[in-house]
Amino acid sequence: MSYVDEVLERVIRQNPAQPEFHQAVKEVLESLRPAIERNEEAYRREALLERLTTPDRMIQFRVSWVDDQGQVQVNNGYRVQYNNAIGPYKGGLRLHPSVNQSVIKFLGFEQIFKNSLTGLPIGGAKGGADFDPKGKSDREIMAFCQSFMTELYKYVGADIDVPAGDIGVGGREIGYLYGQYKRIRGTYEGVLTGKGLSFGGSLARTEATGYGLLYLTEEMLKCNGHALAGKTLVVSGAGNVAIYAIEKAWQLGAKPVTCSDSTGWVYDPEGIDVALLKQVKEVRRERLTAYAQARPGAQYHPGKGVWSVPCDVALPCATQNELFLEDAQQLVANGCIAVAEGANMPTTLDATEYLQTHGVLFCPGKASNAGGVATSALEMSQNSQRLRWSFEEVDSRLQQIMVNIFHNVDSAAREYGAEGNYVVGANIAGFLKVAAAMTAQGIV
Ligand code: NDP
Repeated sequence: MSYVDEVLERVIRQNPAQPEFHQAVKEVLESLRPAIERNEEAYRREALLERLTTPDRMIQFRVSWVDDQGQVQVNNGYRVQYNNAIGPYKGGLRLHPSVNQSVIKFLGFEQIFKNSLTGLPIGGAKGGADFDPKGKSDREIMAFCQSFMTELYKYVGADIDVPAGDIGVGGREIGYLYGQYKRIRGTYEGVLTGKGLSFGGSLARTEATGYGLLYLTEEMLKCNGHALAGKTLVVSGAGNVAIYAIEKAWQLGAKPVTCSDSTGWVYDPEGIDVALLKQVKEVRRERLTAYAQARPGAQYHPGKGVWSVPCDVALPCATQNELFLEDAQQLVANGCIAVAEGANMPTTLDATEYLQTHGVLFCPGKASNAGGVATSALEMSQNSQRLRWSFEEVDSRLQQIMVNIFHNVDSAAREYGAEGNYVVGANIAGFLKVAAAMTAQGIV
Protein backbone atom coordinates (compact mmCIF):
# COMPACT_ATOMS: atom_id res chain seq x y z
CA MET A 1 0.00 0.00 0.00
CA SER A 2 1.33 3.47 -0.80
CA TYR A 3 2.33 5.78 2.04
CA VAL A 4 -0.54 8.17 1.22
CA ASP A 5 -3.10 5.33 1.40
CA GLU A 6 -1.68 4.08 4.69
CA VAL A 7 -1.98 7.53 6.24
CA LEU A 8 -5.48 8.05 4.90
CA GLU A 9 -6.60 4.78 6.46
CA ARG A 10 -4.98 5.73 9.71
CA VAL A 11 -6.64 9.17 9.81
CA ILE A 12 -10.07 7.62 9.25
CA ARG A 13 -9.42 4.93 11.89
CA GLN A 14 -8.11 7.38 14.48
CA ASN A 15 -10.79 10.01 13.94
CA PRO A 16 -14.08 8.15 13.63
CA ALA A 17 -17.29 9.96 12.68
CA GLN A 18 -15.51 13.12 11.44
CA PRO A 19 -16.63 13.27 7.79
CA GLU A 20 -15.58 16.85 7.03
CA PHE A 21 -12.13 16.17 8.43
CA HIS A 22 -11.79 12.95 6.41
CA GLN A 23 -12.90 14.81 3.27
CA ALA A 24 -10.30 17.55 3.72
CA VAL A 25 -7.43 15.17 4.47
CA LYS A 26 -8.39 12.94 1.54
CA GLU A 27 -8.54 15.88 -0.85
CA VAL A 28 -5.15 17.18 0.27
CA LEU A 29 -3.29 13.87 0.47
CA GLU A 30 -4.65 12.61 -2.87
CA SER A 31 -3.35 15.70 -4.60
CA LEU A 32 0.00 15.52 -2.80
CA ARG A 33 0.74 12.08 -4.26
CA PRO A 34 3.21 13.30 -6.91
CA ALA A 35 5.18 15.28 -4.31
CA ILE A 36 5.11 12.48 -1.73
CA GLU A 37 6.16 9.86 -4.25
CA ARG A 38 9.30 11.83 -5.13
CA ASN A 39 10.43 11.60 -1.52
CA GLU A 40 8.40 8.72 -0.13
CA GLU A 41 11.14 6.90 1.76
CA ALA A 42 12.32 9.92 3.72
CA TYR A 43 8.80 11.14 4.50
CA ARG A 44 7.78 7.67 5.65
CA ARG A 45 10.83 7.31 7.89
CA GLU A 46 10.15 10.57 9.64
CA ALA A 47 6.37 9.92 9.71
CA LEU A 48 5.89 13.31 8.12
CA LEU A 49 2.31 12.75 6.99
CA GLU A 50 1.26 11.20 10.30
CA ARG A 51 2.66 14.27 12.07
CA LEU A 52 1.12 16.67 9.56
CA THR A 53 -2.37 15.16 9.88
CA THR A 54 -2.27 14.98 13.69
CA PRO A 55 -2.86 18.39 15.29
CA ASP A 56 -0.29 19.71 17.74
CA ARG A 57 -3.23 20.02 20.12
CA MET A 58 -7.03 20.10 20.07
CA ILE A 59 -8.55 22.12 22.90
CA GLN A 60 -12.21 21.74 23.79
CA PHE A 61 -13.86 23.71 26.54
CA ARG A 62 -17.19 24.62 28.08
CA VAL A 63 -18.59 28.08 27.42
CA SER A 64 -21.27 29.03 29.96
CA TRP A 65 -23.12 32.31 29.66
CA VAL A 66 -26.43 33.85 30.74
CA ASP A 67 -29.08 34.83 28.18
CA ASP A 68 -31.45 37.80 28.41
CA GLN A 69 -34.07 35.70 30.20
CA GLY A 70 -31.61 34.86 32.97
CA GLN A 71 -31.20 31.31 31.68
CA VAL A 72 -27.70 29.79 31.73
CA GLN A 73 -26.64 28.48 28.32
CA VAL A 74 -23.76 26.08 27.65
CA ASN A 75 -21.83 25.72 24.38
CA ASN A 76 -18.79 23.74 23.26
CA GLY A 77 -15.77 25.91 22.45
CA TYR A 78 -12.82 24.67 20.39
CA ARG A 79 -9.35 25.65 19.26
CA VAL A 80 -7.23 23.37 17.13
CA GLN A 81 -3.57 24.39 17.00
CA TYR A 82 -2.63 22.34 14.03
CA ASN A 83 0.90 23.11 12.94
CA ASN A 84 3.34 25.93 13.77
CA ALA A 85 6.33 24.84 11.69
CA ILE A 86 6.47 28.10 9.73
CA GLY A 87 5.06 30.63 12.20
CA PRO A 88 2.67 31.21 15.12
CA TYR A 89 -0.71 29.49 14.82
CA LYS A 90 -3.21 31.55 12.87
CA GLY A 91 -6.80 30.91 11.80
CA GLY A 92 -10.32 32.15 12.35
CA LEU A 93 -13.02 31.53 14.93
CA ARG A 94 -16.37 30.27 13.68
CA LEU A 95 -19.63 30.66 15.61
CA HIS A 96 -22.30 28.48 14.03
CA PRO A 97 -24.53 25.65 15.29
CA SER A 98 -22.82 23.22 12.86
CA VAL A 99 -19.42 23.63 14.56
CA ASN A 100 -17.95 20.43 15.99
CA GLN A 101 -14.52 18.76 16.21
CA SER A 102 -14.72 17.49 12.65
CA VAL A 103 -15.48 20.92 11.17
CA ILE A 104 -12.80 22.64 13.25
CA LYS A 105 -10.17 20.04 12.34
CA PHE A 106 -11.00 20.20 8.63
CA LEU A 107 -10.67 23.97 8.70
CA GLY A 108 -7.48 23.90 10.78
CA PHE A 109 -5.87 21.33 8.50
CA GLU A 110 -6.68 23.34 5.37
CA GLN A 111 -5.39 26.47 7.08
CA ILE A 112 -1.84 25.03 7.26
CA PHE A 113 -1.55 24.99 3.47
CA LYS A 114 -3.40 28.24 2.92
CA ASN A 115 -1.18 30.10 5.35
CA SER A 116 1.91 28.61 3.77
CA LEU A 117 0.72 29.71 0.32
CA THR A 118 0.51 33.35 1.40
CA GLY A 119 4.33 33.36 1.64
CA LEU A 120 4.02 34.85 5.14
CA PRO A 121 5.25 33.26 8.39
CA ILE A 122 2.02 31.87 9.87
CA GLY A 123 1.09 28.36 11.04
CA GLY A 124 -2.32 26.69 10.85
CA ALA A 125 -5.14 26.78 13.44
CA LYS A 126 -8.90 27.21 13.72
CA GLY A 127 -11.47 27.54 16.45
CA GLY A 128 -15.02 28.42 17.33
CA ALA A 129 -18.12 27.19 19.07
CA ASP A 130 -21.53 25.64 18.34
CA PHE A 131 -23.11 28.96 19.37
CA ASP A 132 -25.70 30.51 17.08
CA PRO A 133 -25.30 34.30 17.00
CA LYS A 134 -28.56 34.72 15.05
CA GLY A 135 -31.24 36.54 16.95
CA LYS A 136 -29.00 37.21 19.96
CA SER A 137 -28.87 40.65 21.56
CA ASP A 138 -25.62 42.61 21.75
CA ARG A 139 -25.44 41.84 25.45
CA GLU A 140 -25.81 38.12 24.82
CA ILE A 141 -23.08 38.21 22.15
CA MET A 142 -20.81 40.04 24.60
CA ALA A 143 -21.56 37.57 27.41
CA PHE A 144 -20.75 34.67 25.11
CA CYS A 145 -17.54 36.23 23.78
CA GLN A 146 -16.31 37.10 27.28
CA SER A 147 -16.92 33.58 28.52
CA PHE A 148 -15.27 32.09 25.43
CA MET A 149 -12.15 34.22 25.86
CA THR A 150 -11.98 33.51 29.59
CA GLU A 151 -10.90 30.01 28.61
CA LEU A 152 -9.20 30.69 25.27
CA TYR A 153 -6.79 33.30 26.65
CA LYS A 154 -4.68 30.54 28.22
CA TYR A 155 -3.69 29.26 24.82
CA VAL A 156 -3.26 32.34 22.62
CA GLY A 157 -0.88 35.31 22.37
CA ALA A 158 0.70 37.58 19.76
CA ASP A 159 3.64 35.15 19.23
CA ILE A 160 1.74 31.95 20.03
CA ASP A 161 -1.64 31.84 18.33
CA VAL A 162 -3.53 34.73 16.75
CA PRO A 163 -7.21 33.99 16.00
CA ALA A 164 -9.38 36.05 13.63
CA GLY A 165 -12.97 36.12 12.39
CA ASP A 166 -14.85 33.55 10.32
CA ILE A 167 -18.54 32.68 9.94
CA GLY A 168 -20.47 34.48 12.67
CA VAL A 169 -17.43 36.40 13.91
CA GLY A 170 -17.07 39.93 12.59
CA GLY A 171 -15.84 43.23 14.00
CA ARG A 172 -18.29 43.29 16.90
CA GLU A 173 -17.30 39.85 18.19
CA ILE A 174 -13.56 40.48 17.73
CA GLY A 175 -13.97 43.68 19.77
CA TYR A 176 -15.62 41.85 22.69
CA LEU A 177 -13.05 39.04 22.54
CA TYR A 178 -10.17 41.51 22.46
CA GLY A 179 -11.57 43.52 25.37
CA GLN A 180 -11.81 40.41 27.52
CA TYR A 181 -8.30 39.22 26.61
CA LYS A 182 -6.84 42.61 27.51
CA ARG A 183 -8.78 42.68 30.76
CA ILE A 184 -7.52 39.25 31.84
CA ARG A 185 -3.93 39.51 30.60
CA GLY A 186 -3.39 43.22 31.15
CA THR A 187 -1.34 43.48 27.98
CA TYR A 188 -2.08 45.40 24.81
CA GLU A 189 -0.90 43.07 22.07
CA GLY A 190 -1.95 41.87 18.65
CA VAL A 191 -3.58 38.67 19.90
CA LEU A 192 -6.46 38.85 17.43
CA THR A 193 -6.75 40.18 13.91
CA GLY A 194 -9.75 41.79 12.30
CA LYS A 195 -9.70 44.33 15.14
CA GLY A 196 -11.43 47.70 14.94
CA LEU A 197 -9.39 50.49 13.38
CA SER A 198 -9.29 52.40 16.67
CA PHE A 199 -7.51 49.54 18.48
CA GLY A 200 -4.92 48.08 16.16
CA GLY A 201 -6.95 46.84 13.20
CA SER A 202 -5.64 47.04 9.66
CA LEU A 203 -7.24 49.05 6.92
CA ALA A 204 -8.52 46.73 4.16
CA ARG A 205 -8.80 43.67 6.45
CA THR A 206 -12.60 43.74 6.20
CA GLU A 207 -12.44 43.78 2.43
CA ALA A 208 -9.44 41.47 2.08
CA THR A 209 -10.91 38.01 1.48
CA GLY A 210 -13.44 39.15 -1.10
CA TYR A 211 -11.04 41.56 -2.80
CA GLY A 212 -8.28 38.94 -2.80
CA LEU A 213 -10.62 36.41 -4.37
CA LEU A 214 -11.24 38.77 -7.26
CA TYR A 215 -7.55 39.65 -7.68
CA LEU A 216 -6.71 35.98 -7.97
CA THR A 217 -9.66 35.22 -10.24
CA GLU A 218 -8.64 38.05 -12.55
CA GLU A 219 -5.06 36.72 -12.74
CA MET A 220 -6.23 33.14 -13.33
CA LEU A 221 -8.48 34.27 -16.16
CA LYS A 222 -5.77 36.49 -17.65
CA CYS A 223 -3.21 33.66 -17.65
CA ASN A 224 -5.74 31.47 -19.45
CA GLY A 225 -6.56 34.02 -22.14
CA HIS A 226 -9.71 35.58 -20.66
CA ALA A 227 -10.55 38.98 -19.20
CA LEU A 228 -12.60 39.42 -16.03
CA ALA A 229 -14.09 42.69 -17.26
CA GLY A 230 -17.44 42.18 -18.92
CA LYS A 231 -18.07 38.77 -17.33
CA THR A 232 -21.25 37.79 -15.50
CA LEU A 233 -20.61 36.39 -12.02
CA VAL A 234 -22.79 34.31 -9.73
CA VAL A 235 -21.91 34.56 -6.06
CA SER A 236 -23.29 32.61 -3.10
CA GLY A 237 -23.32 33.98 0.43
CA ALA A 238 -24.12 37.45 1.68
CA GLY A 239 -21.57 37.74 4.43
CA ASN A 240 -18.14 39.29 4.67
CA VAL A 241 -16.54 37.37 1.81
CA ALA A 242 -19.49 37.60 -0.59
CA ILE A 243 -20.12 41.32 -0.04
CA TYR A 244 -16.55 42.39 -0.77
CA ALA A 245 -16.20 39.93 -3.63
CA ILE A 246 -19.26 41.60 -5.18
CA GLU A 247 -17.83 45.07 -4.51
CA LYS A 248 -14.46 44.27 -6.13
CA ALA A 249 -16.14 42.48 -9.04
CA TRP A 250 -17.90 45.73 -9.95
CA GLN A 251 -14.64 47.68 -9.58
CA LEU A 252 -12.92 45.31 -12.00
CA GLY A 253 -15.66 45.67 -14.60
CA ALA A 254 -17.55 42.41 -14.01
CA LYS A 255 -21.24 42.05 -13.17
CA PRO A 256 -22.25 40.00 -10.11
CA VAL A 257 -25.91 39.02 -10.36
CA THR A 258 -26.64 36.80 -7.35
CA CYS A 259 -26.10 36.41 -3.62
CA SER A 260 -27.62 34.09 -1.01
CA ASP A 261 -28.01 33.46 2.69
CA SER A 262 -29.05 30.42 4.67
CA THR A 263 -32.73 30.89 3.85
CA GLY A 264 -32.79 31.99 0.23
CA TRP A 265 -31.12 33.72 -2.70
CA VAL A 266 -31.47 36.75 -4.90
CA TYR A 267 -31.12 37.11 -8.65
CA ASP A 268 -30.73 40.72 -9.67
CA PRO A 269 -30.48 41.00 -13.48
CA GLU A 270 -29.17 44.58 -13.19
CA GLY A 271 -26.36 43.36 -10.95
CA ILE A 272 -26.28 43.28 -7.14
CA ASP A 273 -26.55 46.70 -5.53
CA VAL A 274 -23.67 46.41 -3.09
CA ALA A 275 -24.60 49.49 -1.04
CA LEU A 276 -28.07 48.06 -0.44
CA LEU A 277 -26.65 44.61 0.34
CA LYS A 278 -24.32 46.14 2.95
CA GLN A 279 -27.21 48.06 4.45
CA VAL A 280 -29.35 44.90 4.72
CA LYS A 281 -26.64 42.53 5.98
CA GLU A 282 -24.03 44.63 7.78
CA VAL A 283 -26.16 47.39 9.26
CA ARG A 284 -29.71 46.08 9.67
CA ARG A 285 -28.69 42.38 9.91
CA GLU A 286 -31.81 41.33 7.99
CA ARG A 287 -32.66 38.48 5.62
CA LEU A 288 -32.26 38.85 1.85
CA THR A 289 -36.02 39.28 1.47
CA ALA A 290 -35.35 42.86 2.62
CA TYR A 291 -32.95 43.32 -0.30
CA ALA A 292 -35.53 42.09 -2.82
CA GLN A 293 -38.25 44.29 -1.31
CA ALA A 294 -36.07 47.38 -1.76
CA ARG A 295 -35.05 46.51 -5.34
CA PRO A 296 -38.01 46.05 -7.68
CA GLY A 297 -36.06 44.28 -10.47
CA ALA A 298 -34.57 41.65 -8.15
CA GLN A 299 -36.09 38.21 -7.67
CA TYR A 300 -36.01 36.43 -4.30
CA HIS A 301 -36.19 32.63 -4.15
CA PRO A 302 -36.34 30.58 -0.97
CA GLY A 303 -33.86 27.69 -0.58
CA LYS A 304 -30.83 27.04 -2.80
CA GLY A 305 -30.39 27.88 -6.46
CA VAL A 306 -27.68 30.40 -7.37
CA TRP A 307 -25.81 27.86 -9.51
CA SER A 308 -28.79 27.59 -11.87
CA VAL A 309 -28.24 31.15 -13.10
CA PRO A 310 -26.22 31.32 -16.35
CA CYS A 311 -22.80 32.87 -15.75
CA ASP A 312 -19.19 33.05 -16.90
CA VAL A 313 -17.66 32.75 -13.44
CA ALA A 314 -19.01 31.23 -10.21
CA LEU A 315 -17.78 32.26 -6.78
CA PRO A 316 -19.06 30.13 -3.88
CA CYS A 317 -18.64 32.35 -0.82
CA ALA A 318 -21.04 30.97 1.83
CA THR A 319 -19.91 27.76 3.51
CA GLN A 320 -18.54 24.22 3.06
CA ASN A 321 -20.28 21.72 0.77
CA GLU A 322 -22.64 24.13 -0.97
CA LEU A 323 -21.78 23.33 -4.61
CA PHE A 324 -22.68 19.75 -5.50
CA LEU A 325 -22.20 17.57 -8.58
CA GLU A 326 -25.57 18.55 -10.06
CA ASP A 327 -24.70 22.22 -9.57
CA ALA A 328 -21.38 21.67 -11.35
CA GLN A 329 -23.23 19.97 -14.22
CA GLN A 330 -25.57 22.93 -14.49
CA LEU A 331 -22.70 25.42 -14.45
CA VAL A 332 -20.94 23.54 -17.26
CA ALA A 333 -24.16 23.27 -19.27
CA ASN A 334 -24.60 27.04 -18.91
CA GLY A 335 -21.10 27.78 -20.23
CA CYS A 336 -19.32 28.74 -17.00
CA ILE A 337 -15.56 29.02 -17.59
CA ALA A 338 -14.19 29.43 -14.06
CA VAL A 339 -14.99 28.66 -10.44
CA ALA A 340 -12.96 30.21 -7.63
CA GLU A 341 -13.79 29.37 -4.03
CA GLY A 342 -14.31 32.24 -1.61
CA ALA A 343 -15.55 29.92 1.14
CA ASN A 344 -13.60 27.00 2.59
CA MET A 345 -14.33 23.71 0.77
CA PRO A 346 -17.67 24.84 -0.71
CA THR A 347 -17.31 22.47 -3.67
CA THR A 348 -17.71 18.75 -3.07
CA LEU A 349 -14.97 16.43 -4.39
CA ASP A 350 -17.11 14.98 -7.19
CA ALA A 351 -18.22 18.47 -8.26
CA THR A 352 -14.59 19.64 -8.34
CA GLU A 353 -13.59 16.69 -10.50
CA TYR A 354 -16.51 17.28 -12.84
CA LEU A 355 -15.57 20.93 -13.30
CA GLN A 356 -11.92 20.10 -13.89
CA THR A 357 -12.63 17.35 -16.40
CA HIS A 358 -15.02 19.62 -18.28
CA GLY A 359 -12.45 22.35 -18.85
CA VAL A 360 -13.61 24.77 -16.14
CA LEU A 361 -10.75 26.65 -14.45
CA PHE A 362 -11.04 25.76 -10.77
CA CYS A 363 -9.19 27.48 -7.95
CA PRO A 364 -9.52 25.97 -4.44
CA GLY A 365 -10.27 28.16 -1.45
CA LYS A 366 -6.92 27.67 0.19
CA ALA A 367 -5.44 29.71 -2.65
CA SER A 368 -8.30 31.95 -3.72
CA ASN A 369 -9.53 33.01 -0.27
CA ALA A 370 -6.06 33.37 1.27
CA GLY A 371 -6.29 37.15 1.05
CA GLY A 372 -8.07 37.29 4.40
CA VAL A 373 -5.41 35.54 6.37
CA ALA A 374 -2.66 37.25 4.39
CA THR A 375 -4.03 40.64 5.40
CA SER A 376 -4.39 39.37 8.95
CA ALA A 377 -0.66 38.64 8.84
CA LEU A 378 -0.13 42.19 7.57
CA GLU A 379 -2.17 43.37 10.57
CA MET A 380 0.20 41.38 12.83
CA SER A 381 3.19 43.08 11.17
CA GLN A 382 1.66 46.52 11.72
CA ASN A 383 0.92 45.68 15.38
CA SER A 384 4.50 44.51 15.92
CA GLN A 385 5.83 47.69 14.32
CA ARG A 386 3.27 49.82 16.16
CA LEU A 387 2.49 51.44 12.84
CA ARG A 388 -0.52 51.73 10.58
CA TRP A 389 -0.24 51.43 6.81
CA SER A 390 -2.63 53.23 4.45
CA PHE A 391 -5.53 51.43 2.77
CA GLU A 392 -3.72 51.70 -0.57
CA GLU A 393 -0.55 50.17 0.83
CA VAL A 394 -2.33 47.18 2.38
CA ASP A 395 -4.51 46.72 -0.70
CA SER A 396 -1.57 46.81 -3.08
CA ARG A 397 0.35 44.27 -0.95
CA LEU A 398 -2.78 42.10 -0.95
CA GLN A 399 -3.04 42.29 -4.71
CA GLN A 400 0.63 41.33 -5.09
CA ILE A 401 0.23 38.43 -2.67
CA MET A 402 -2.77 37.06 -4.58
CA VAL A 403 -0.99 37.33 -7.93
CA ASN A 404 2.04 35.56 -6.43
CA ILE A 405 -0.15 32.83 -4.96
CA PHE A 406 -1.67 32.14 -8.35
CA HIS A 407 1.73 31.89 -10.03
CA ASN A 408 3.16 29.65 -7.29
CA VAL A 409 0.15 27.37 -7.58
CA ASP A 410 0.33 27.36 -11.36
CA SER A 411 4.04 26.54 -11.45
CA ALA A 412 3.80 23.81 -8.78
CA ALA A 413 1.05 22.19 -10.86
CA ARG A 414 3.26 22.32 -13.97
CA GLU A 415 6.34 21.04 -12.14
CA TYR A 416 4.47 18.00 -10.87
CA GLY A 417 2.88 17.12 -14.21
CA ALA A 418 -0.60 18.45 -13.50
CA GLU A 419 -0.71 21.63 -15.60
CA GLY A 420 -3.87 23.63 -15.01
CA ASN A 421 -4.85 21.57 -11.95
CA TYR A 422 -4.80 24.28 -9.31
CA VAL A 423 -5.97 21.92 -6.56
CA VAL A 424 -2.81 19.88 -7.00
CA GLY A 425 -0.72 23.03 -7.40
CA ALA A 426 -2.09 24.71 -4.27
CA ASN A 427 -1.68 21.68 -2.07
CA ILE A 428 1.83 20.90 -3.27
CA ALA A 429 3.07 24.50 -3.11
CA GLY A 430 1.65 24.88 0.42
CA PHE A 431 2.92 21.49 1.55
CA LEU A 432 6.54 21.70 0.38
CA LYS A 433 7.37 24.72 2.52
CA VAL A 434 5.77 23.25 5.66
CA ALA A 435 7.38 19.85 5.06
CA ALA A 436 10.84 21.41 4.66
CA ALA A 437 10.39 23.36 7.92
CA MET A 438 9.16 20.27 9.78
CA THR A 439 12.09 18.20 8.55
CA ALA A 440 14.58 20.91 9.48
CA GLN A 441 13.15 21.22 12.99
CA GLY A 442 13.54 17.52 13.79
CA ILE A 443 11.08 15.15 15.36
CA VAL A 444 8.84 17.37 17.47
P1 NDP B 1 -20.30 35.35 7.24
O1 NDP B 1 -20.84 34.78 8.49
O2 NDP B 1 -20.01 36.80 7.15
O3 NDP B 1 -21.25 34.98 6.02
C1 NDP B 1 -21.57 33.67 5.69
C2 NDP B 1 -22.66 33.69 4.65
O4 NDP B 1 -22.96 32.37 4.25
C3 NDP B 1 -23.97 34.27 5.17
O5 NDP B 1 -24.64 34.86 4.11
C4 NDP B 1 -24.72 33.04 5.66
O6 NDP B 1 -26.10 33.19 5.64
C5 NDP B 1 -24.28 32.01 4.63
N1 NDP B 1 -24.24 30.67 5.24
C6 NDP B 1 -23.55 30.29 6.35
N2 NDP B 1 -23.77 29.00 6.64
C7 NDP B 1 -24.63 28.57 5.69
C8 NDP B 1 -25.26 27.34 5.44
N3 NDP B 1 -25.01 26.26 6.23
N4 NDP B 1 -26.07 27.25 4.37
C9 NDP B 1 -26.29 28.32 3.56
N5 NDP B 1 -25.74 29.53 3.76
C10 NDP B 1 -24.94 29.65 4.80
O7 NDP B 1 -18.98 34.48 6.91
P2 NDP B 1 -17.78 34.85 5.95
O8 NDP B 1 -18.28 35.58 4.75
O9 NDP B 1 -16.70 35.42 6.76
O10 NDP B 1 -17.28 33.38 5.52
C11 NDP B 1 -17.84 32.69 4.41
C12 NDP B 1 -16.92 31.55 4.04
O11 NDP B 1 -15.62 32.07 3.71
C13 NDP B 1 -16.65 30.52 5.12
O12 NDP B 1 -16.45 29.25 4.51
C14 NDP B 1 -15.35 30.99 5.74
O13 NDP B 1 -14.67 29.93 6.38
C15 NDP B 1 -14.63 31.46 4.50
N6 NDP B 1 -13.55 32.41 4.72
C16 NDP B 1 -13.76 33.60 5.36
C17 NDP B 1 -12.72 34.48 5.53
C18 NDP B 1 -12.91 35.82 6.12
O14 NDP B 1 -11.94 36.60 6.12
N7 NDP B 1 -14.09 36.17 6.58
C19 NDP B 1 -11.34 34.12 5.11
C20 NDP B 1 -11.26 32.90 4.36
C21 NDP B 1 -12.32 32.08 4.22
P3 NDP B 1 -26.87 33.87 6.88
O15 NDP B 1 -26.68 35.36 6.67
O16 NDP B 1 -28.26 33.42 6.73
O17 NDP B 1 -26.19 33.36 8.11
